[in-house]
Amino acid sequence: MPPDFVALDKAHVWHPFTPMQDWCAPDHEPIMLVDGEGCWLTDQHGNRYLDGNSSIWTNIHGHRHPRIHAAIKAQLDHVAHTSFLGFANPPAAQLAGELTALIPGGRLNKVFYTDNGSTAIESAVRMSLQYWEQNGSPQRTRIISFDAAYHGDTLGAASLGGIPLFKGSGNQFGYAVQRISSAEQLESLDDVTSIAAVIIEPLIQGAAGMRVWPQGMLKQIETWCRAHDVFLILDEVMTGFGRTGKMFACEHEDVVPDFLCLAKGLTGGYLPLAATLTTQRVFDGFLGDASEGRTFFYGHSYAGSQLGCAAALASLAVFREERLLEQLPAKVTSFTSVLDTLRAHPHVIDIRQCGLIAGIEIGKSKDPREEYPAADRMGVKACLAARRHALLTRPVVNTLVLMPPLCATEGEMQRMAEALRASIDEVCGSD
Ligand code: PMP
Repeated sequence: MPPDFVALDKAHVWHPFTPMQDWCAPDHEPIMLVDGEGCWLTDQHGNRYLDGNSSIWTNIHGHRHPRIHAAIKAQLDHVAHTSFLGFANPPAAQLAGELTALIPGGRLNKVFYTDNGSTAIESAVRMSLQYWEQNGSPQRTRIISFDAAYHGDTLGAASLGGIPLFKGSGNQFGYAVQRISSAEQLESLDDVTSIAAVIIEPLIQGAAGMRVWPQGMLKQIETWCRAHDVFLILDEVMTGFGRTGKMFACEHEDVVPDFLCLAKGLTGGYLPLAATLTTQRVFDGFLGDASEGRTFFYGHSYAGSQLGCAAALASLAVFREERLLEQLPAKVTSFTSVLDTLRAHPHVIDIRQCGLIAGIEIGKSKDPREEYPAADRMGVKACLAARRHALLTRPVVNTLVLMPPLCATEGEMQRMAEALRASIDEVCGSD
């Protein structure tokens, strides 16, 4: 007899972003995911579900991709993990070469590895601050971020974010952050010479509820940053690797930041790995004499993970071999028409889309002022109902998220939308 995994989980595991009183309730049986293939996941009872949010926005090629499996297995035959502090390794070196070559113009030619999105962001912020401190502008300590931004959960990353719920109790640490809500507001900031960097989720804010920025905003911010010699940090943790219809969101507006932060889709969702790409200028600002004074004293045990880098290389190979970028515009068009079928629903008040990302907001009626109170947890209820229609996803308050793997067929996207429609009918009614 195998162990009772559900009982063990309920007895001992504390899940992230999860109200544990609901989880541990006697009548709640958690879904235990045991298998996956392509866009589909299978639970402990053999039920199959569509992975409607690419396993929290990571599995861009779906599950069990043979190319990535083979790469991880091949790497295991050499070595799984070695220290990156004082040692190099082949997959990390090759991946750095490939990642830097993906950014047009060759401006981002240095790669710093961590193992999750939050620390990819923190690396960029800490590098910015240390750069200014040791290169003649120690007064540049302020970070400009945006209302409702989400950049991760570590103390520093949480201090950049603009969603109070995610800041944590008693967080008196963190950076000197000033939040704004539009590119125009940059113009009215005082004391610009004290600003170290501007950080933004380009094109679309994720955890804010899939809020799409106005077109041209990113370019405007880049122009402002260049004019004032302020670093631009782009958080492409969610948007990177094809999500928005191009490899990176910044390509839509021909913007090249000073720091590009990548995680989630970097390994195709197979292993934890993150990368912060930056410029020669920033790198040079950390070179010094023989003393260690200008060194970047930051990094994690799994930095440059050999297995993670091997998986990431395979994921990039999948992009090339399956000509994914060429197929993306057609995929996005299919996704748009699939989403259109939900637009007329009496309880869908807004659909926000950016590439293969969608936020479907539900409300009491078509009148956007008639919101469901957050306490009613209608988004959660709709997503729980979706499970009965073979779809797994997670809401942001009243916004249901659809983020199919890039390999999803039009038929699979349609099934995702149909499942959502049935769930909204069930939870909100169909009139
Ligand atoms: N930035 C953005 C835009 C994200 O969506 C996330 C994760 N949802 C993060 C940062 C943090 O990434 P991680 O959870 O890997 O730390």
